[in-house]
Amino acid sequence: MQFESSLLAAISSVLPPDRPIALHEPDFKNTAAQKYLKDCLDSGWVSTNGKWVNSFEEYLTQITQAKHVIAVTNGTVALRLALTINGVISNEEVMMPSLSFVATANACSHLGAIPHFIDIEKETLGIDPIALQERLDQIAEKKNDGVWNKQTGRRIAAIVVVHVFGHPAQTTKLRAIANSWGVPLLEDAAEALGSFRENIHCGRFGKAGILSFNGNKLITTGGGGALLTDDDELAKHARHISTTSKIPHQWNFYHDEIGWNDRLPNINAALGVAQLEVLSQRISAKRKLNKEYAYAIKEISNVDIILEPINCTSNYWLSTIKLTHQDPLQASELRLKLLKEAHLKGLLLRPVWQPLHQLPMYINAPHGDLFKTEDQASRLINLPSSPQLLKR
Ligand SMILES: *Cc1c(COP(=O)(O)O)cnc(C)c1O
Repeated sequence: MQFESSLLAAISSVLPPDRPIALHEPDFKNTAAQKYLKDCLDSGWVSTNGKWVNSFEEYLTQITQAKHVIAVTNGTVALRLALTINGVISNEEVMMPSLSFVATANACSHLGAIPHFIDIEKETLGIDPIALQERLDQIAEKKNDGVWNKQTGRRIAAIVVVHVFGHPAQTTKLRAIANSWGVPLLEDAAEALGSFRENIHCGRFGKAGILSFNGNKLITTGGGGALLTDDDELAKHARHISTTSKIPHQWNFYHDEIGWNDRLPNINAALGVAQLEVLSQRISAKRKLNKEYAYAIKEISNVDIILEPINCTSNYWLSTIKLTHQDPLQASELRLKLLKEAHLKGLLLRPVWQPLHQLPMYINAPHGDLFKTEDQASRLINLPSSPQLLKR
């Protein structure tokens, strides 16, 4: 059999027979979602306040152990908020990987700031600490008022780590580098709810981290996100500017700075609580699904499955395989054939994102060498990963 056909047959052997099978789908079966939604409707508490927002934030506090959790309308908004409370303003640079969902760079652009792309390592698919250190040594200069890019004359205002597909990046090493330069480290943990490095939840290594509850994430609130931080002042500022910067008062409308309307509605939070109650079962199902994929493809040459990094527990948000042919062009051509055949058969596999530095709006953004980013980007394929796909 041809490579593509035997690989697809192996993947299919793990999955139930119905087609099409999407990459990741929401699931409210065996949850209290209906009951909690009904409570919102019956009480009239459907908007940006209410008990479900409070319990959603409390639940997330328990899971992540973050001191403060602020629920917002989506992950992109949470990122923009994390950047803002850490002082990122227009015409400053934010270092981040190019291998990420576009929102990581967009949130920075929404503030008028500019992404500066750093290469990844193939083990975690996150920023390579050596590449970050080398890039900073090469282009950055520490002054009294911050770290400046000598080549562009712009301040380097933050570093954003991304935990790709739920696999923890090298946060311990990256944080040490960020601290040595005095640049705040932030974490895009949008995909990493329930993922830990050295028993610390992703999103808790730097000044602030974010989660997403978009429709295809591990749990979904329809649309939603959260900001995590251990810093009391940052948390206070985030709550303030995400609720129109209104000074609380019985009747006066007084706002002391330009704010946003970012808070998560109660009706969305109710959905979130219902799924957090079954989060550990979901993560176990995903971990098991990944094991089954790993077993099914182990006899096929030139393909590996991505496993959690050492000292880490991943939520395995998306099971991901990698074509290991030496020539990246050959890998990407085979990947295209595989995707075509898979889609014809109703298996909605996905290639990893187009690297951000190759998108038209980021083509002129500053960056270091991105060899490993481009190489990995030509080889990775996401497999259907909904926990409900696990055959029982
Ligand atoms: C989903 C995602 C986001 C954005 O979250 P939304 O809730 O869709 O705005 C940001 N970064 C990464 C890596 C994501 O996967």
